[in-house]
Order: sequence, then C-alpha cells, then structure tokens
Amino acid sequence: MIHIARTQKDLDQYLKAKTIGLSPTMGNLHQGHLELLRRSLEENELSIISIFVNPTQFAANEDLSSYPRTWEEDVAKITKLSQQYQKDVIIFFPENDEVIYPHGKQTTYSHQRLRAQLEGEVRPTHFDGVTTVCKRLFEMTKATNAYFGKKDYQQLTIIKEMVIDLNLRVNIHSIEIFREASGLAMSSRNNYLSDSDKKVALTLRKTLLQLASTLKQQGLSACREQRDKAIKNKQFNYISIRDALTMDEISSFEQDVVILGNFQVGSTRLLDNIVVEHTA
Ligand code: AMP
Repeated sequence: MIHIARTQKDLDQYLKAKTIGLSPTMGNLHQGHLELLRRSLEENELSIISIFVNPTQFAANEDLSSYPRTWEEDVAKITKLSQQYQKDVIIFFPENDEVIYPHGKQTTYSHQRLRAQLEGEVRPTHFDGVTTVCKRLFEMTKATNAYFGKKDYQQLTIIKEMVIDLNLRVNIHSIEIFREASGLAMSSRNNYLSDSDKKVALTLRKTLLQLASTLKQQGLSACREQRDKAIKNKQFNYISIRDALTMDEISSFEQDVVILGNFQVGSTRLLDNIVVEHTA
C-alpha cells in the first residue's frame, strides 16, 4: 500500500519501523529511480520515496519552473512496485518548500573540496542545495538506509563524505546506472531530447567506453591523450579522469578510476560516467 505524507507530522506517524529506506528524488520517475526504491523495498521494513523539486539546487537561470512534474504517473509507478513487494511505501511529497526549509536558506551545508569542481564549476550553488536538502531529508525521515544512483557520481561522493563528516546515522547505498536500450543513461532531462538529439547524446557513452578501454589496455597517458582529442568536440563540457573513491585528480592508474563526462545537447546538460577497476 502507498501512503502520502505532506508534512513532518504526516511522516511521523509512520516512522516506527526498525529499518527505514529513503530514496530521494525530484519525481518524473523512470526505471533508474525505481531501482533505488526496489533496493529499498528489498532491504527495509519501511520505504520512503521523496518527491521534491528542490529549489536550492537550481540556479536562477536553470529549469526549476519547467522541470517535469508528473505526479499521477509517479504515484502509479510506485503503487505497482509497492504491490509487487506487498510492502508499504510512503511518498513524501512536501506540501510546500517551508516543510523542508522552515527559514528559507538560513542554514546550509557545503562540501568544501568538491562543491566548485566539475558540475559545481558551472553550477556554483548546486551542491550546497543538494547537501542541505539531503541532510534535512535524512533527519526528517529517520532513514536507516538511503539510496542514490551512480549516474550522479559527484553527488554520491559528496553525500558519502558529508555523512561521515557530520556523523549522520544513515547508510548510503549506490545503485548502478540504469540505461535505455541504446545505452543512454536514463534521466528526467532526457524528456527534453528528440529522437535525433538522443542519437547525438550517445556520443557521451561511446566516448566514455572508448576511454575506459584505452585506460585498461594502454594506461593513463594514452587515455588522457584520447580524452584531449575527444574534448575538442565542443558539446563536451568536460571529461575528467579521477580517483573513483575520492574524486581527486590522479597522476597514475594504481587505484579504481572514474571517468566522468558532461555533454551538452541544446540547452540540456547530460551526465554519465564509467568506473574502471584497477586489477593488480
Ligand atoms: P533526480 O530525481 O534526478 O534528482 O534523481 C534522484 C536519484 O535517482 C539520484 O540518486 C540519481 O542519481 C538517481 N538516478 C537518476 N537517474 C538514474 C539512472 N539512470 N540510474 C540510476 N539512478 C539514477
């Protein structure tokens, strides 16, 4: 069964379970989001999926007002999964922004090391919005476990470090990237793309796969050279080769590595990444 909570008081009546799994989303649910909820249903007594288009992670020039909102379809998808698992799911759908931010933006959390890099370079306030909303959601829902997608790799790394730094009592779980049949990473922002845009967008996945193969077979220098050539395609906002754990820049391939890319189709920025494991 599903239950809808619109305030903290609504939520509180359900928070007596031994294990609570939280899947934070902005709605417009696709299979990738539903994988988070599926894992939560498998691993927890009670699952909560939040649907909140978080204003603090959008800059003034971004798509906050046009971000796809598909409440009825989302509820239908969640209901189906809840029935499949025969377990209760709470949809936390705050009735207004004040439920999450009683004093507006007064108290924020920032991850200093990564907030201004990669995604943060063009979206300087984005990660402060993400960390702040996630900390609030963890506490409001008393989550034991929280589920995040590897598609947003920088976000995931930042959240994991925040949880350690602030000693939050929640376990962070990462979920593999769910892809369309073509290989394109699923994203709510794929809705902005036409079929021909989607074909162009596949350049991102193809390039990351090629770079991963070069890294494995020929090493870091060859991979960097290939990256430098690939990035001449102006649709790439960046391609970065980093330590998979810390997301620091690397000088040698002696640990697991993540190659992250951001590719622009029209005004839509698309994210993807690939992890290359280091085998001794
Ligand atoms: P969003 O609604 O876009 O903020 O995403 C909510 C959560 O779903 C985040 O943890 C995302 O990383 C995750 N997510 C989004 N797309 C995918 C995907 N294709 N595969 C796995 N997880 C995803």
